[in-house]
Amino acid sequence: MEYVCRYCGKRKVDPKGWQLGFEGTGAEKVMKYTITLLGKWDEQRASEANAVHFCSAACQDKYLSKNYGDESWAA
Ligand SMILES: [Zn+2]
Repeated sequence: MEYVCRYCGKRKVDPKGWQLGFEGTGAEKVMKYTITLLGKWDEQRASEANAVHFCSAACQDKYLSKNYGDESWAA
């Protein structure tokens, strides 16, 4: 399986060191605009339907600030 960085589009088959998050987890309608960050890579969960992949913390940060603003993910 090949993973694609959600922010910059970089592709990798073995994305060790990448960041993993999940968008809209839980009840889809209620949690549509939320994202949960795992803070590490988890190969088992990376193929889940709502998983988002980032090649670096920098890409993750840029994606978050672009799509979620500053407040929504500061849990
Ligand atoms: Zn990237």
